[in-house]
Amino acid sequence: MKGRKKVLAVAPCGAGKSYLFSEMIKNTKGDALVLVHRQELKAQHEKLFRKLGITNVRVETYQTERNHLEENPTPRLLVVDEAHLSRSRSWSEIISYYDTHTVGVTATPIRLDGKPLGDIFDDMVQGITTKELIRRKCLAPYEYFAPTTVETDNLKIQAGDFLIKDLETIMCNRTIYSDVLKSWEKLSGRKKTIAYCVSVAHAQETAGMFTAAGYPAAVIDSSLPDKKRSQIMQDFLDGRILILCNVGIISEGVSIDDVECCLLLRPTQSHALYWQQAMRCMRYQPGKIAKIIDCVGNYTRNPLPDADVEWSLTQSARKPKRIDSSGNFFIRTCPKCYRVFKTAPVCPYCGEVYPLHPIEIKTQQEIELARISEQEKQALEELNKQRRMEVGMCKTFEDLIAIQKDRGYAKGWVFAMARLKKIPIRRDWS
Ligand SMILES: [Zn+2]
Repeated sequence: MKGRKKVLAVAPCGAGKSYLFSEMIKNTKGDALVLVHRQELKAQHEKLFRKLGITNVRVETYQTERNHLEENPTPRLLVVDEAHLSRSRSWSEIISYYDTHTVGVTATPIRLDGKPLGDIFDDMVQGITTKELIRRKCLAPYEYFAPTTVETDNLKIQAGDFLIKDLETIMCNRTIYSDVLKSWEKLSGRKKTIAYCVSVAHAQETAGMFTAAGYPAAVIDSSLPDKKRSQIMQDFLDGRILILCNVGIISEGVSIDDVECCLLLRPTQSHALYWQQAMRCMRYQPGKIAKIIDCVGNYTRNPLPDADVEWSLTQSARKPKRIDSSGNFFIRTCPKCYRVFKTAPVCPYCGEVYPLHPIEIKTQQEIELARISEQEKQALEELNKQRRMEVGMCKTFEDLIAIQKDRGYAKGWVFAMARLKKIPIRRDWS
């Protein structure tokens, strides 16, 4: 039996997703259930519903809901917040258990491993784009900087992304910490920042580095007790902490308006993870220009936050092509001002003439070699054709001898060719 319609609504971070589903719930004749994956989000949504006077709704984390499945009636409407997480077993168990009108909301309708969501949702609606939200002042415009600190070209991939222990080895390095600090001081405006780290150890080291340099920083991760976590969040909100070094917490949902900078220290291939992290500083405030400082080259692996992406319910996410057909990067970083831009002869921000990256030089050499070998192949074919024609035109045994001498062939060639062309053989020649 075909279940109830399950629709995936795609809207960028900052499009007001919670207002969108509040409206739907308000118009639902019956009860709604909103599924979230973190306690913080449950509290945040409940607060919003109270403010809007919506009473026909229950908000629950999927962990709790899964353990109490038979205790509640089937809701008329099921809202799946952060629906890109819904392919995990516990989520899909709940969704198929209720089998009711379902709306999934997300900014990135793909799993973190790049897989599509077509096995759960049967329709997708793409809403407003990030570019449009920036234009309408619903999101802050951003500047994207990519001071390169680490080389990730040779890292292993598992389940669509890098291995945390490999990343930790790369990122927990004294030189890299010092580069990160310098870049942040230079590019962030020293404003409220969320740093996205690889692991707890990496986050602690990063926070330690900032604190030692005189910038109050703290670590927040999911292993902290709720009370401690709320305290740190409050300190960050109130400005007692300037830099929040986070491991997997603020990737989704939690909204802090005056964060002006995202410091990306966690290499990832996951578009979903990348966008959630990079865009966390883009909540609109008048006059704010968000600073995204990407120290790990994530912009080379994922579409930029305001890129137009065509999502699909059936196709996995594709990695953007890094190099164009002439061997140049599609997107490059200025070595002087670190801004990221579409390849141009000079940096459009500061006019710097940049040297080519070793990868570009290598690719361009390969393209050149391929071009040369194609030319050589054609020349060789032409030469062989010429030579076959010369042999074809031979009428006498002497003609063949002339070619044999000219080309340095063995004498046997003359006899074999004479027999083939039925030219009388001169017995006296040897
Ligand atoms: Zn520049």
